[in-house]
Amino acid sequence: MECGLRALSLKPGGEVITTPFTFAATAHAIRNAGLKATFVDIRPDNYTINPSAVEAAVSEKTVAIVGVHVFGAPCDYARLETIAKAHGLAVFYDAAHSFGMNVDGRSIGLLGDMSMFSFHATKVFHSVEGGMLMSTNDGWIKEATALANFGLRGDDIQGAGTNAKMSELHAVVGLSNLKHIDAILARRRHQGQLYRRLLDGIPGIHLQTLPDGDADYNFSYMPIEVVPDEYGCDRDTLQTCLAKRGVGTRRYFYPQLANATAFAACSEMVGPLPVATRLAKRVICLPLYHRLEDVQIRDIVRIVERRASL
Ligand SMILES: *Cc1c(COP(=O)(O)O)cnc(C)c1O
Repeated sequence: MECGLRALSLKPGGEVITTPFTFAATAHAIRNAGLKATFVDIRPDNYTINPSAVEAAVSEKTVAIVGVHVFGAPCDYARLETIAKAHGLAVFYDAAHSFGMNVDGRSIGLLGDMSMFSFHATKVFHSVEGGMLMSTNDGWIKEATALANFGLRGDDIQGAGTNAKMSELHAVVGLSNLKHIDAILARRRHQGQLYRRLLDGIPGIHLQTLPDGDADYNFSYMPIEVVPDEYGCDRDTLQTCLAKRGVGTRRYFYPQLANATAFAACSEMVGPLPVATRLAKRVICLPLYHRLEDVQIRDIVRIVERRASL
């Protein structure tokens, strides 16, 4: 992602409006590309960057918008694009969670100026480590590819390159996983829909709003929002209770980045970011992997349902 951002040749030190509800890598890439992260709040329904907050935060120093398709849910791309056009900004998407997804019949990776996919071992498709950039602009992709290979261009060295190449060994793992990806995505779709059907209506458990006609949604994660007043206890108590029964869960994303030490000094917060702060305290991802059996999903939901006996 860092090479991708560098390839866009944005004004050094320019401000990039982004979300604090993401993995640290999103903001690290912005900073390492010589840009400044400005965090704005997210939408309470699908956890993606709030276009109204983006619009309010645009200044003369703004050079780009970096949105994250959180847990696969696409950003409000039409509105973000309109804002970007009006102010001459680049749009970059962190599509780390969105492998295999289409929007409006096209790959989600074709939205905006450029998108990044992660192939880390925790992702729905992986090569242990690695990733991919997508763009309709061939020049930017060539530039990013050169930057990932020490900036080498033929006999010349151009740009502050690094070593971000994918190794052959990682590519082999990726290619062998790719053969199974359709079956894995189909299985996850079934599992995700089962989870959502069973969880629906449990007081205090809210679900992420999915895109309309969710046929293409990849169910890369199974997030739930635990609303303490309605549910009877907070997210961390539920996590402990599930752990005691052998169910491993992850707090995604915690802490929200604008509150993290690494970004406090070098980022600019626009307002107190109440939605992101609240969701960072409430969201937890339940287990979801293609070998997880339906009976296990039912057992997990039963534990979530019996909060009274925590
Ligand atoms: C995993 C992840 C990344 C980082 O990807 P790497 O391939 O590990 O560099 C970036 N953004 C998000 C939202 C992620 O979940």
